[in-house]
This record gives sequence, C-alpha cells and structure tokens, in this order.
Amino acid sequence: MKKIAVVTSGGDAPGMNAAIRAIVRKSIYHGLDVYGIKRGYLGMINQEIECLRLGSVADIIHRGGTILRTARSPEFLTMEGREKAFAFLKGERIDGLVIIGGDGSFRGAKVLEDAGFSTIGVPGTIDNDIPFTDYSIGFDTAVNTVADAINKVRDTATSHERIYVIEVMGRSSGYIALQAGLAGGAETIIVPEAPFDLTEVCNRLMRGVKRGKLHSVILVAEGAASAFSVAEEIQKCVQMEVRVTILGHLQRGGTPTAFDRVLASRLGAKAVDLLLEGKKGCTVGFWKGEIIATPYDEIFSHTKEFSWDDYKTASILAI
Ligand code: ADP
Repeated sequence: MKKIAVVTSGGDAPGMNAAIRAIVRKSIYHGLDVYGIKRGYLGMINQEIECLRLGSVADIIHRGGTILRTARSPEFLTMEGREKAFAFLKGERIDGLVIIGGDGSFRGAKVLEDAGFSTIGVPGTIDNDIPFTDYSIGFDTAVNTVADAINKVRDTATSHERIYVIEVMGRSSGYIALQAGLAGGAETIIVPEAPFDLTEVCNRLMRGVKRGKLHSVILVAEGAASAFSVAEEIQKCVQMEVRVTILGHLQRGGTPTAFDRVLASRLGAKAVDLLLEGKKGCTVGFWKGEIIATPYDEIFSHTKEFSWDDYKTASILAI
C-alpha cells in the first residue's frame, strides 16, 4: 500500500471534511501518498485528482460540506462510465480507496471492489440509514440543526397559538425526525418506519387544546408523508391555525458538532488502518461502543434497525 485516494460521494454531510482530514493525516503519518478525487464517481470518470498534503486539510475540521466536492454520477451506473473510472484508477496506480458517502456510494465502491480495487467505505450521511453503525457522520449535526429550528418555531407557535407541522429530511429513514423530535419535545413524530393514524394525531391535539395547550409541533419525516398533506388533514379537525415549515437543505450544512468531528476522526483513521492491514471491501462503523468493520454484502443485506425504544419513549413523553 503506497498510494491511496479519498473521495466524497452522494449527499454531502457535515463532518465529511473532518473525515478527509483524518484520512489524509493518518496516511501521511504512515508514509503513504494520499490523493483526493473530486466530485465522487464523476471525478473518477473525468480524471479530477489532486495530491493532498498536511496543509491541504488545515482549517477544515470545523467546516461543513466537503472540500473535495461531491456529485451524483449517472454515468458511473453504465459499463462505459465504469470502464473510464477503472482505467483512470489503474493509470494513477491507486492502491487503496476510501469512499465517504451513503448507501449508493457504497454500492459504487462494491463495483470498484469487484473490478479488483481495494476500497473502504466511511458512512457519511445525515440520514443515519447505514446498518452496523449507530451513527453516520453528519447525523448528529443535522439533529442539532432541527432541534434548534424546533426551538425557534416553538416561540412563534406559542405567540400565535398555532400548530406547526415541520418536515425534515432522512429519505426513507425516520431517524432525524425521531431524535430531533425527542430533543425538541415534539408532540407528534411521524416516521416511515411506523404506521400513523391522522385521526389519532387529531384526537391527541384536541386533548392538548382542552388542557389549555397554546401550541403544538408535529415533526414529519420526508419519507413518511408530505407536511402539507398532514397539515391539510389536521386543519379539518382543529380550530387552531395550522402552518407548515419545510427545513430542507439547511439540514445538510453548518459547522459539524464535536460528536460528528470525533466520529469522523475515528472512522477516517480506522479506514486507513484497515487498508494498511490489507483489509478491503468493507465499511467502518461505530457500533455498540466499538469501531468495527463490516463487509459490503452484510451492509447491503441488512436494513438499519429503527430505534423503537426511543420511538415509544417519545410517544409517552408527548402524552
Ligand atoms: P449516497 O451515497 O448519499 O446514498 P447516491 O445514492 O446518490 O448517494 O449515490 C452516489 C453515487 O453512487 C451515484 O451517483 C452513483 O454514481 C453511485 N451509485 C449509486 N448506486 C449505485 C449502484 N447500485 N451501483 C453502482 N454505483 C452506484
């Protein structure tokens, strides 16, 4: 192992830069040459590569986004596109690749693996939908962003005595909604993993109104329902005004939390260790208090378990 490359792919997540920094510095510490490939698989096809030195990753640990940029590459899904990427990596004599991204990026990594390249995946996605890791890089920051937004919406909800339906990201995962809802004290959390009954949501709201509640916050994961349709249904059964807030891409940005920076540093360093040990074809993760490696096939054949205990607790606390 002499020359490794790092790449960020798919949806960006706060903390990706901290992971790049860890990978670059750990590699240099062990005497490796380390390169950055720009814009994910698109950059492999378009041959966008640069040498990374200690100074290249200075002053980035606290910055959101990714200095390597990221992209989605439909061309990499074609045989022709892949062949270009393989030829580029071979020409550059890359011995090992660290791919920071989500499920789609790991499927791309598996394609490279099957073509004979050594790859390690580092989970970087705010959705927290990767199995065999309790947390993916960026999730904690996104949860804090949403919790902060709930605080702010709550102020105006109380002043105007309104119900707010807040839609959050997560693709088909309800993790952001669940954790941020718990942290922000949302009255109702709607996630794709659990069936929901809007009549029951309305009944709960009515009980709250009778008790003199001045406002309510309902958190909806984008994969479960549209906030507008939830609001429309609720408006039919309550007298209070119902408003919608869609947080959107602001959940992807911002300074990564200390938790995400520590996680990114640990996972990035472990990825380099694995390549040096001759391991490949797996992702790193923080699972039950330990940093572990899990083969791609295991990742693809499992769905991340939903935190039912937290979901139940959140429902009880919002009584
Ligand atoms: P994420 O990594 O955040 O889940 P995407 O699902 O958009 O993001 O995947 C990022 C990129 O990975 C895609 O643009 C594509 O180039 C590649 N990719 C996604 N799915 C596959 C697949 N099944 N096989 C090969 N490459 C894939």
